[in-house]
Amino acid sequence: MPIYDFVCSECNASRPVLVDYEAKEGLELICVHCGGVMRAAPVAMFTVISSTTVEQPADQKKVKPCGHTHHCRCAAIKQKAPNPFQKQIDKALGNILYN
Ligand SMILES: [Zn+2]
Ligand SMILES: [Zn+2]
Repeated sequence: MPIYDFVCSECNASRPVLVDYEAKEGLELICVHCGGVMRAAPVAMFTVISSTTVEQPADQKKVKPCGHTHHCRCAAIKQKAPNPFQKQIDKALGNILYN
């Protein structure tokens, strides 16, 4: 038997009620807080929200050129000027390789 949220029309208090789909239609409960009328809340919204969040494929995430999906600084790093010491590094490497 499914559980439906019954919501008070007076104070918006809600509580889950175990009830048949047919039985919940037209079923009215007395609110324990204010004595108002509680009716079954529409469940269509819950179904839509949960299905979209759960079934959302991972590949819909925005993948950056660097392969990251999170907020990263790869693009900012790439935009930097070339390493000013690159020639010295190459020279040092060359010395190691060819000496
Ligand atoms: Zn109430
Ligand atoms: Zn990145």
